[in-house]
Amino acid sequence: MASTAAQAADCPGHPDALGTSRTIVVDPREHPRIGTMQYRETLPLRDHEVVLTFDDGPVPKHSNQVLQILADECIKATFFIIGAQAKANPEGVRKLVAAGHTVGTHSQNHPLSFQKMPLDKVQAEVDGGIASTSAALTDPSALAPFFRIPGLLRAEVVEDYLASRGIQVWSADFPADDWRHISSDRVYQLAMQRLEAKGKGILLLHDIQARTAAALPKIIRDLKARGYHIVHVVPATTDRPATPTEAVEWLMHPPSERVPIARWPAIPNFVFTRSETLPAPALADLNTELPRPTSLSRQIVARASETVFPVPGRDLFEIPEKSLAVLLTPSRRAATKQASTEASRAAAATRKGKASTASRGRQTAHVAPTGSKRAAQGDSSDGTAEGKSATEPPTRVASLKKR
Ligand SMILES: [Zn+2]
Repeated sequence: MASTAAQAADCPGHPDALGTSRTIVVDPREHPRIGTMQYRETLPLRDHEVVLTFDDGPVPKHSNQVLQILADECIKATFFIIGAQAKANPEGVRKLVAAGHTVGTHSQNHPLSFQKMPLDKVQAEVDGGIASTSAALTDPSALAPFFRIPGLLRAEVVEDYLASRGIQVWSADFPADDWRHISSDRVYQLAMQRLEAKGKGILLLHDIQARTAAALPKIIRDLKARGYHIVHVVPATTDRPATPTEAVEWLMHPPSERVPIARWPAIPNFVFTRSETLPAPALADLNTELPRPTSLSRQIVARASETVFPVPGRDLFEIPEKSLAVLLTPSRRAATKQASTEASRAAAATRKGKASTASRGRQTAHVAPTGSKRAAQGDSSDGTAEGKSATEPPTRVASLKKR
């Protein structure tokens, strides 16, 4: 592996380059679906290792900028090409391969409907994208059997078809929302925040976006400053065997304790304005090692996996501020103030009768426990109760008896 790695020190003319720390070879047939945004497994990365991926190109204007930035840092990435773009700009695809990047595909026309597409349409989109991208390449075998579903709109039909062709489905571990109308600064912030939250993983970017090209240098500087390393991923071939790994390395958080963990796959937040609902995670994503209950008929299993759930609103989990106040103990000052107000009311009531005083005293004790001592003293402001213990005011005993 060391021989294929372009160390930072080996980046001619760029002594401060981040570089590519190592290359891993993966076998799509052994791990057909990767990326924790949707799947159980992800690439076998170590802590602080990052894989950069770019979708939707090539579009010369911004893709060339991204290519130059990566070249200056000696970083190798993976690009998911749209077939129609490859047709329009075959030179752009050849440039990627010439620069040593990995090239996979991203469908022919990028329809945002893969989650409900019939098999024949899926085949046409997948195969079309591969054919167009291959046609752009001088050596079609340079094309990696890696596929990213447009909009990450996964479905079992799509995944099964890709698996049958030995193609690996790449989701991601985190996006940076660079397809949204946000600033390049925000793209940079999201990329780093989400990476820091997981500590490693596959970053999803788009080389056709100006904001991505603008954010990339900052992301790379920060990756270097925070001690991250870039990993390049290539597919296994007959003369390039897969990097040996343990099964547990393909999990983002290997279960280290003997604690049972139920992990629901993350709901993809790769939402487009057109779609109101997101596809539900398939049963197969929950825990593939669990055998399916035999009592369930095939039909029920299939239907369950097609169910579409609405995304719960963020506000569903928020506690209204007012109810927070109930949970918090009132400050001593506030309690004292409240108690003295009650006490003066109680004092006024004393003139009217002792029964009402008792009632006031009880209320004060309930509303502000910390101020009850003062309130009790206030109730007996005539001075006769001065020497009595404040913890057992006669008024409270009386009120309890009444109840
Ligand atoms: Zn895309």
